[in-house]
Amino acid sequence: MAIVICNEVGGIGIGHAARVLRAGGDALDAVERGIWPVESDPRIHSVGRGGWPNLLGQVELDACIMEGAHLRSGAVGAVRGYLHPITLARRVMERTPHVLLVGEGAERLAAECGLERAENLTREGAAFWEHWRASAIPGDEARAWPPDALAPLAWRAADPVHTHGTTVFLARDGRGHMAAGVSTSGWALKYPGRLGDSPIVGAGCYVDDRYGAAACIGQGELTIRAGTARSVVLYLKLGLSLSDACREAVRDLEHLAADRLSFVMIHALDASGEHHALCWGDHESPRYWVCSGEQGPASLVNAGHVR
Ligand code: ASP
Repeated sequence: MAIVICNEVGGIGIGHAARVLRAGGDALDAVERGIWPVESDPRIHSVGRGGWPNLLGQVELDACIMEGAHLRSGAVGAVRGYLHPITLARRVMERTPHVLLVGEGAERLAAECGLERAENLTREGAAFWEHWRASAIPGDEARAWPPDALAPLAWRAADPVHTHGTTVFLARDGRGHMAAGVSTSGWALKYPGRLGDSPIVGAGCYVDDRYGAAACIGQGELTIRAGTARSVVLYLKLGLSLSDACREAVRDLEHLAADRLSFVMIHALDASGEHHALCWGDHESPRYWVCSGEQGPASLVNAGHVR
């Protein structure tokens, strides 16, 4: 059964992903195509162009793509000036012997591959940053901008409930191959160079055709520490049902509850095409999109919720 699922902000891309599957295309192409419109849309402030900037007012993007037949993956972190970090992640996987490139090296590969450049800091993003600086930084500090010590600001700026977001896509194609893709601008007002879970294989996403796939949104620092996406797939391998595998991964996160600043939401698809999502922590209404790769429109489905 061909199927694609994505988180709520991915809704504008899921039709593109489903069309790839319906045309007999593969899961990797489906997740990449699904993510493109999300990265391009300047109204989505947590992914691609229009993403909220870091503490220095720069938009730094992270992405990862992974395929489940041979566990090949590519990822990029803290990339500036390119429109589609998901495609750059795919180039890392297909054109280099590496898995993860960051910063200038990643941008160099993007230039080598002729990927589309973009000014990802929109006028709205710049205004958001200016407003934050004007309201959060006392006059003396603002005059000496940037300050020598940015780290205290990273704590003061953190508003993860309102400034988090990522897009995650999981797909299974008609041949039974699976893929995962994640793209994000990460936390708004993060410390420059900060990578969340999105570009970390096994934290932000993981896929193995034999068992299934998982991808996370929310407080990436926690899912990096718990290895959440990999854990879900491992729990499937050990024989847990899809919902029990997600619940077990949330139990692992509960052990880190003292450091929780925000929610984590796990999206999962098993090798038979069953889907599930589970949110841990405060969230108004955790939902995700599901679309059959055969026919019919996408539907928005309620996720499970554990507080
Ligand atoms: N997981 C992303 C990160 O930590 C952000 C998010 O999904 O809200 O960068």
